[in-house]
Amino acid sequence: MSQAIISLNSGSSSIKFGLFSLEGGVPVHAAGGKLEKIGIAPQLTIRDGEGSIIAEKEWPQGASLTHQALLDDLYDWAGSHLAGHEIIAVGHRVVHGGADFAAPVRVDAAILARLEALCPLAPLHQPHNLAAIRAIAALSPDLPQIACFDTAFHHAMEPVATRLALPRAMSDRGIRRYGFHGLSYDYIARRLREIDPELASGRVIAGHLGNGASLCAIHAGRSVDTTMGFTALDGLMMGTRSGALDPGVVIHLMKQEGMSADEIETLLYRESGLLGVSGISSDMRTLHESDDPRAAEAIALFVWRAAREAGALISAMGGIDGIVFTAGIGENDPVIRAAIAARLAWTGLEIDEAANRANAPLISTPDSRVTARVIPTDEERMIALHTLATLQAEATPWA
Ligand code: ADP
Repeated sequence: MSQAIISLNSGSSSIKFGLFSLEGGVPVHAAGGKLEKIGIAPQLTIRDGEGSIIAEKEWPQGASLTHQALLDDLYDWAGSHLAGHEIIAVGHRVVHGGADFAAPVRVDAAILARLEALCPLAPLHQPHNLAAIRAIAALSPDLPQIACFDTAFHHAMEPVATRLALPRAMSDRGIRRYGFHGLSYDYIARRLREIDPELASGRVIAGHLGNGASLCAIHAGRSVDTTMGFTALDGLMMGTRSGALDPGVVIHLMKQEGMSADEIETLLYRESGLLGVSGISSDMRTLHESDDPRAAEAIALFVWRAAREAGALISAMGGIDGIVFTAGIGENDPVIRAAIAARLAWTGLEIDEAANRANAPLISTPDSRVTARVIPTDEERMIALHTLATLQAEATPWA
């Protein structure tokens, strides 16, 4: 019987998962999928390792199934699908590891309590991540569960990159910059070591450009600085999030417009970004297809902000040797990549138009001083790799 790991990325309205069988000690993607529209009309789609749909299920509109009930179903399915496999662990994406957790950790009751104490730092994400851990513990109390943190990769940042210019006592209460998308950047840094070790030892801007979007300055595989900070609201303009904002805007909205904290949260997380500026959609593809000038303005602002933040990160690293694009927009959108690259032409970056149009792995010209690559991210695989490494480290504590 061969062994398998499940990786889970549990959010408020969706749960993404991957099933990895261990072949020769390496996690191989056997199946994966997504449970979407939780709380509205849940939909489950499962695909095999080649991407073909192998199972689908829909629940009726208004089915208010809990994460627990949905995970029960998913877990049952995994058990039958993986007949011949023994599930040895479940790895979870946990958004916040706070100041303490610099590496993945096996969760027990004491660790879970410490992770729960971090919920106020990520109220929209952390509770759902932890609900999945509790759900699996109820189903299989002895199964090892490993928490893999989105903040952990950024523990390498120097203190100066983590401080906010607020009174000192506030940082003691955890109000500081943490950075997010760490599982994605960790994966990109590892893939880069495999495919371009010379660049991996240099100064790289990685751009995770999806619905959520951020940039990370990575020098020799370590995070130097990143655009998200205390929350995943900071930095770039995103699908529905504002990104960095003059804090005076928030004070104005509260004092002059009488908005409550909840209203401002909804505004900044759900109604801003590409959606807010265009008034049309948060989806980059829809904006490209529109001939409404507001769509073009939203795209222009997205590019402007990305290039401006990239400039700041290049300064943080003292230069740039390469740029890597990843996630939905980064992997698939030649127009946005070319527009950001054009604004960074002063670095010596030169894009090969045909390679860029083809979403090729290498999209810079041979003469470009800065290498540009497209690397598909794989957070589920990163979770599986971390989970396996954590189990192995437990098995050989003196290694
Ligand atoms: P999430 O943060 O939800 O994981 P994704 O990484 O899937 O988001 O990115 C979603 C974004 O990627 C959307 O704006 C979508 O329009 C964009 N995107 C996906 N595929 C393409 C494509 N082929 N061309 C342009 N944009 C794309």
